[in-house]
Amino acid sequence: MQNLTQGGAVTDRLKRPLRDLRISVTDRCNFRCPYCMPAEIFGDHYQFLPKQQILSYEEIARLTHIIIRLGAVKLRLTGGEPLVRQDLDLLVRQLAQLDGAHDLAMTTNGVRLPGRAQPLKEAGLQRVTVSLDSLDNDVFRQMNGNRANVEDVMAGIDAAIQAGLTPIKLNTVVKRGVNDNTLVDLAKWAKDQGYILRFIEYMDVGNRNGWRMEHVVPAREIAAIIDKALPLEPLPRNYNSETALRFAYRDGGGEIGIIASVTMPFCGDCSRMRLSPDGHIYTCLFATQGTDLMTPLRAGASDEEIETIIRDTWLNRSDRYSEVRSSIKRPNEKIEMYYIGG
Ligand code: SAM
Ligand code: SF4
Ligand code: SF4
Repeated sequence: MQNLTQGGAVTDRLKRPLRDLRISVTDRCNFRCPYCMPAEIFGDHYQFLPKQQILSYEEIARLTHIIIRLGAVKLRLTGGEPLVRQDLDLLVRQLAQLDGAHDLAMTTNGVRLPGRAQPLKEAGLQRVTVSLDSLDNDVFRQMNGNRANVEDVMAGIDAAIQAGLTPIKLNTVVKRGVNDNTLVDLAKWAKDQGYILRFIEYMDVGNRNGWRMEHVVPAREIAAIIDKALPLEPLPRNYNSETALRFAYRDGGGEIGIIASVTMPFCGDCSRMRLSPDGHIYTCLFATQGTDLMTPLRAGASDEEIETIIRDTWLNRSDRYSEVRSSIKRPNEKIEMYYIGG
């Protein structure tokens, strides 16, 4: 067989190793961010996955163990909102015991962290990324579908700090005409608090958020807005597959990142696999279909058999959606962000 591994990791057709696994533990969420789960679509009658079609924690841990054997060293829990799933610390405990991965993090909207942060830390979660789109409460409510206030997220961040789920990172999706005039306030505050803030270009994930290019504030423009108030200088990337462009504050007061997946795509180093709540793996955030692991898993397949399916999926991977976005006429049904995680 030709050399298909890099540092022990399986590599895809573009020689990209499998390094990161994002585990979406639920398709449900307590927010209705219009850019992700617009309330008019995800209303009271929306059919989320039934419980029996959702992987158990034991099933997630088993699949994760196999994916670690194929190279994944960084694990991130996401969703939907991971904290709407009960007793998430039970999953974290199982994942933390797996040999081979050295990073176990979670992306959350933060409002359920009070009361949950400490047990998660004790179970082995290392750090959290909290999504917060504005410090202006009206703007924030617009960005989250009127589900929470800024102070709810602040309480979550405080709980994470007290529990030691640090360093805290913040994710901020930027949508033109909605929160772009509140970015400097957010950056100033995050800088003062010592949090690493990452602005995210509004992406055309899924098919339901009505995405249009004119809603995107390009990374260069975001950097210019911040630089004007808080002078910046570019930083080198920490590691190859890092998704954020990094900038340091010239006064030495920390750094910010910008995830420019629309205007400056980074598919060339993309090492992320995604596991959906119903046990499918996806090799791209913009995938149109995944590979079903739930069926073989529940039909009694051995670890080796499942490993072969996952390895073959990665070996055949050639995704580079963001780099070819503009040449795709009209993408087929893409997978939704709330289902596959960020
Ligand atoms: N519910 C959690 C949260 O919001 O942090 C985790 C899941 S959410 C899908 C993960 C990340 O994706 C969040 O930081 C969110 O802001 C981001 N996201 C969702 N939809 C997006 C979009 N259309 N463009 C860019 N980022 C998006
Ligand atoms: Fe929920 Fe996160 Fe999507 Fe907002 S971005 S709707 S918090 S999953
Ligand atoms: Fe990776 Fe797909 Fe995003 Fe490119 S578009 S960086 S391949 S997830």
